[in-house]
Amino acid sequence: MRPPALLQMPLSSLTPILGRNDSSDLSLPWRGWALLVLTAICLTPLAAAASELELGKQVPRQGDEIMVCGQLFHTTAPVVLWLDPGGYDAYRVERRFAPLEKSSWEASSKENPHLDTPNRYGLRKAGLTDKQLQQVRGGGWDLPLLQKVVDQFVMHYDVCGYSQKCFRVLQDDRGLSVHIMLDIDGTIYQTLDLKERAWHATRSNTRSVGIEIASIGAYPKDKKSVLDQWYTTAPDGTIRLRPPRQLGPLGLRTRHFEGRPDRQELIVGTIQGIELYQYDFTPQQYDSLIKLTATLCRIFPLLKCTYPRDANGRLISHQLTDAQWKNFHGLLGHYHIQKNKTDPGPAFNWKKVIGGATRLLP
Ligand SMILES: [Zn+2]
Repeated sequence: MRPPALLQMPLSSLTPILGRNDSSDLSLPWRGWALLVLTAICLTPLAAAASELELGKQVPRQGDEIMVCGQLFHTTAPVVLWLDPGGYDAYRVERRFAPLEKSSWEASSKENPHLDTPNRYGLRKAGLTDKQLQQVRGGGWDLPLLQKVVDQFVMHYDVCGYSQKCFRVLQDDRGLSVHIMLDIDGTIYQTLDLKERAWHATRSNTRSVGIEIASIGAYPKDKKSVLDQWYTTAPDGTIRLRPPRQLGPLGLRTRHFEGRPDRQELIVGTIQGIELYQYDFTPQQYDSLIKLTATLCRIFPLLKCTYPRDANGRLISHQLTDAQWKNFHGLLGHYHIQKNKTDPGPAFNWKKVIGGATRLLP
């Protein structure tokens, strides 16, 4: 419930209205009555508001919220923020999985030449005026300004197979970042506020939100034996996702998670002119991604719920031209941005994601 306008003022600004600091005036009888009447009018709603805003009361979280400019937005999917226990924090400068005594930025930068700056993210500064730049350089984005900047949502697969390793590779090994990781059990990990410029997709970093979807990836025919280490045929003939045992615990949020590809068949498709083989993502990943996509399309008006298509309405399966990239506002693959990339691969079901998200939007 929105409180009356008066209650939106800080209490200090009510003081002149109530005349508390003006003791000589209070001696006048008419001022005393006016004060009483005003107090009666004002204090009733104040008391009501005070019961809603109880000092020291915990603000409840549902566990499905993502954060944008410090504001929480429901996705209706499971979300772990970088602030939460079990989360992955890309604001930190140390290595998350290195031995503790060698994890500091100083030790890490000596040991790993890829880590050439303590921060793994930057500032979305393209197109901002000097005044806006001064406003946001310390992180002070407000939602209306960010809504003018974000118009792309970039799909990656992580080639790690699970999000814990994805974070280790980005944070500890390569000095890169992504806003969101989507684990095989459908858990969404947000590692940075979406106001930050994550380092995941070169020229699209400034205008995009990025997501790394856990998957071992897509392979040409001569290398597709990698998939045999990650997928197996169960006795009932169904294909199951079974990460190699020697990896040990994968840090999944869902205990005893049993994964399977959403579509059972091995999918073959051509990306950047290369024929690739890939198993589909899990149903849990699609479910969360659909909800997240709808959430982002609702938060960011410039982000359209669509993917790159040709004149016949078919998915474009190679890098966009400069003009296409510039004018595209929606979901796209890493391969639409860079010629040297093939993620999220031929198995990514664009129609399912966009169709599902569109149905969730008002
Ligand atoms: Zn990528």
